[in-house]
Amino acid sequence: MKIGVPKEIKNNESRVALTPAGVFELVNYGHQVYIQESAGESSGFSDEDYRDAGAVMLPTAEGVFAIADMIVKVKEPIASEYPLVKKNQVIFTYFHFASSEVLTKAMIASKAICIAYETVSDDDGFLPLLTPMSEVAGRMAIQQGAKYLEKPIKGRGVLLGGVPGVPPGRVLVLGAGVVGVQAAKMAAGLGAHVTILDINMKRLRYVNDIMPSHVVTEFSSVYNIKKHIKDHDLIIGAVLIPGAKAPNLITRAMLKDMRPGTVLVDVAVDQGGCFETTRPTTHEEPTFVVDDIVHYCVANMPGAVPYTSTLALTNVTLPYILKLANLGWEEACSKYPDLGRGLNVVKGEVVIEEIKKAFEEVD
Ligand code: NAD
Repeated sequence: MKIGVPKEIKNNESRVALTPAGVFELVNYGHQVYIQESAGESSGFSDEDYRDAGAVMLPTAEGVFAIADMIVKVKEPIASEYPLVKKNQVIFTYFHFASSEVLTKAMIASKAICIAYETVSDDDGFLPLLTPMSEVAGRMAIQQGAKYLEKPIKGRGVLLGGVPGVPPGRVLVLGAGVVGVQAAKMAAGLGAHVTILDINMKRLRYVNDIMPSHVVTEFSSVYNIKKHIKDHDLIIGAVLIPGAKAPNLITRAMLKDMRPGTVLVDVAVDQGGCFETTRPTTHEEPTFVVDDIVHYCVANMPGAVPYTSTLALTNVTLPYILKLANLGWEEACSKYPDLGRGLNVVKGEVVIEEIKKAFEEVD
């Protein structure tokens, strides 16, 4: 199969969909891989690295889309890429169709086969192609939070780990899912005192089993949140209610109960955020201050660490790319139901209920 990888052109996106190691693997299976020149640069991979692994480098995205049977990307195609998508071409990437009717209509019109990373899922609902990005965001939340706690950038001036004779900083994590556990682990590693809240007792039991004793679990309730925001320095928003907007667990009125310079990192910003005062920010301007409380609400946190994020993403996408390349999309999707659940738009038809429903509600 001819596999194409264009350079990502969405604002602030520095990841690339295949590493040289992935190219090497595909070429070993007898496939041809076409990479757009400089596609891997921001992730630390040169054109030379790709050539050495067996890829053919092409100067333009037009060239890559024109030759490939399957396009592998990171982000959904944006408007300038819509006309490049060909009939019967497989496009394997994050799509998030339900959030864009324009994109959905463009892909319907293209008659391509759109397989979305975010809906590839096993029988238990586990989403293997979303998890690594939550892991990156969870770990990064503490790195960023620790930085913004510094006084010159309007934080409280607290060192999370403390020093001998001075107690460590206190981190409150709302949600003990993938993001929350990774955040708690990083904060605990720095020596901070960590409180982690969830409404799912199974998750709290798990965290309680695996974390050191300075990570304390507690059931998530308005009462408990109100109690903890008063004396925690860094608060991480990591809740998710699948298919719904994140609940506002911290209202604007509650900000006055926090100490000035407290830092809020709302990782759940991509689902609307779990703080009332959240609004999406960018890596260029990641923070804003409301009532003396620092807010960090970057919607694509993994984009700031493209080397790690690209490796984490391609570790999990490559096995699926190989299945699609070796078997063709029809056989691969019927033989592997987890991959089959990734089919969203096929040859002009929306084949997934959630997207149909999203636009029925819009109409
Ligand atoms: P997850 O499903 O693994 O975990 C979410 C947890 O929230 C669950 O354990 C759930 O029980 C808990 N929860 C639900 N309601 C709660 C409440 N009222 N109080 C406390 N906990 C509650 O999800 P995840 O993978 O950890 O993702 C969390 C959020 O981070 C999602 O919105 C995801 O889209 C987002 N995310 C953002 C970025 C970014 O760059 N900003 C990157 C990756 C993921």
